[in-house]
Amino acid sequence: MKNIIFLAPPAAGKGTLSEMLQEKYGYGHISTGDLLREEVKKGTDLGKEAEGLMKAGKYVPDELILKLIKNRIVKPDCDNGYILDGFPRTIVQAEKYDELLKELNKDLGVVIYIEIDKEMAIKRACSRITCPKCGRIFNKYSNEMKPKKEGICDDCGEKLIQRADDSEETFNKRFDEYIEKTMPLYDYYNEKGVLRKIKAYESKYDTFDEAVKVIEE
Ligand code: AMP
Repeated sequence: MKNIIFLAPPAAGKGTLSEMLQEKYGYGHISTGDLLREEVKKGTDLGKEAEGLMKAGKYVPDELILKLIKNRIVKPDCDNGYILDGFPRTIVQAEKYDELLKELNKDLGVVIYIEIDKEMAIKRACSRITCPKCGRIFNKYSNEMKPKKEGICDDCGEKLIQRADDSEETFNKRFDEYIEKTMPLYDYYNEKGVLRKIKAYESKYDTFDEAVKVIEE
């Protein structure tokens, strides 16, 4: 199965698409944001270093992210393909990741760029609620993404929370960080011939259908 990298601004739907593709194909799902939030919750040194940066909408240093990826990518659920949701986010991360793939004799796979306009992304971020236990993503104002019971995770019954970095102010900082540091990856992967573009639709099912087409092409 082709490995997948999602390249997209914050709140474009990477996490939701990853959940859907994981269910359809059995991919391993690696979200560096989730891994970091886990470290913050556990209060590890890495978590302490990352917390302030994440709240400020800034990127966490490349070395810390690469350490997380190196440990995660060798887990058995990644043997038959995995989705990178939120990594790489800088050119340095992409270059180091190329080296890691060579070392591990793994393929880069396909890079899926999700196109979304900023207004739609802000709207999504500000109404997004997530489960602090399983990481499942819901949305207060979307009929298809609302939890069955208000404020409660459908899967584990946990109380849903709003992410600390999903306020409008922090979203804007995250978006600026994305434009400056992550957008250069568009050309990086386009030049390698592995980049495919899809659109973020209102309905997650429409976006999912486009992603499936790209994966199965
Ligand atoms: P996400 O859940 O992907 O939106 O990530 C939440 C936050 O975690 C980001 O705004 C960054 O502060 C941090 N983060 C996640 N992945 C990375 C990465 N690959 N490089 C640097 N910072 C990251």
